Amino acid sequence: MKVLVVNAGSSSVKFTLFEMADQSVLCKGLVERIGLKSPRLVYQRAGEEQHDEKLTIVNHNGAMQAICHKLIDAEQGVLKSLTEIDAIGHRVVHGGEQFSAAVVIDSAVKDGIRKCSALAPLHNPPNLDGIEACEDFFPGVPNVAVFDTAFHQSMEPEGYLYALPRELYKKLGIRKYGFHGTSHKYVYYAGCAFLGLNPETAKVITCHLGNGGSITAIRGGKVLDTSMGMTPLMGLVMGTRCGTIDPGVVLYLIKNGYTADEVDVILNKKSGMQGVSGISSDMRDIEAARNSGNTDAQEAYDLFIHRLLNYIGGYYLLLGGADAIFFTGGIGENSPAVRESVIRQMSVYGCELDNEANKARGKQIVLSRPGSKLQVAIVPTNEELMIAREAIGLVK
Ligand code: ADP
Repeated sequence: MKVLVVNAGSSSVKFTLFEMADQSVLCKGLVERIGLKSPRLVYQRAGEEQHDEKLTIVNHNGAMQAICHKLIDAEQGVLKSLTEIDAIGHRVVHGGEQFSAAVVIDSAVKDGIRKCSALAPLHNPPNLDGIEACEDFFPGVPNVAVFDTAFHQSMEPEGYLYALPRELYKKLGIRKYGFHGTSHKYVYYAGCAFLGLNPETAKVITCHLGNGGSITAIRGGKVLDTSMGMTPLMGLVMGTRCGTIDPGVVLYLIKNGYTADEVDVILNKKSGMQGVSGISSDMRDIEAARNSGNTDAQEAYDLFIHRLLNYIGGYYLLLGGADAIFFTGGIGENSPAVRESVIRQMSVYGCELDNEANKARGKQIVLSRPGSKLQVAIVPTNEELMIAREAIGLVK
């Protein structure tokens, strides 16, 4: 069975085609700069070189048409006909409280996704554009929505409520939703399988550290807490997002003449590693600058680690002790320095770092020394495969 995974953003559509018999990737790519100057298609067949071509498209429908042509292209395609595709899995950012699991899309589901747009105005509308384009080009093929927020719907009220007047939750849905749920779920189950932990009972902290970052405490497949909130602004120090700050700061800025839009840009685009270092949002640049003695980069790095440790310590206690901590995402999978800075604080939990293993990048490996009570591992994430599995699980 073949599953197409689609991740439609505001100006891009990413896609991966899976053969589910062996869960292999047949091809992948993206259309970017949709609606902007010089849109292009990047396409790669498994094991082959990447191709790049200019497009003249103006919307998601045009992008999907270009992808379809490529999939069945006589020279570069991987399919004879689009009807070979058995299901399409769509990444949808916000499912609010309505969606606690993946669903086959019908008009009621589309209405639900539209309703959740109030909570994710930049993401849900293009997600819907991607869904509707697929409905046009793949008639009769089931479309499945896989929500970034769904896994976190297993949180109890003490995990998701804010200490605000209850009517704000009831009227406006103001609560913690959490994001990166598909990644946390994938990494939890893949990591449990890797370490031989029973996912029905395991106590795990998953650290998704990328440009955006979040950390989740999971017990028996149920989320106890996660660091992102009603929006992805909360929690860890990120590339350009501030993470958790005193909400009084927002009031102070507004009372000092900043508009809501200006505050939005500051908190989402000008803060985090970029804002504190003044150098870059990219951890590689921060590491290079701190290694050459830049004190602002050092402080940004220290703040990143400090915040991460705060969460790990809190979640460890919340879980009543953890069996394992999994690192994933661009930084989690590739930065020995970040992992070492975190893991060396864990001797208090009976965990010692295996320095040799920690040199690894991007591969599944145990980082804690044999005999550690708390095990630590890199578990590379694969959100696309998780979406494909959820989609096929629903249409089989
Ligand atoms: P996104 O959230 O955009 O999906 P990624 O998961 O791709 O982000 O992670 C991007 C981050 O990973 C960047 O901060 C980048 O610097 C970091 N990263 C990638 N490779 C390395 C590396 N070798 N060392 C340190 N950080 C790295």
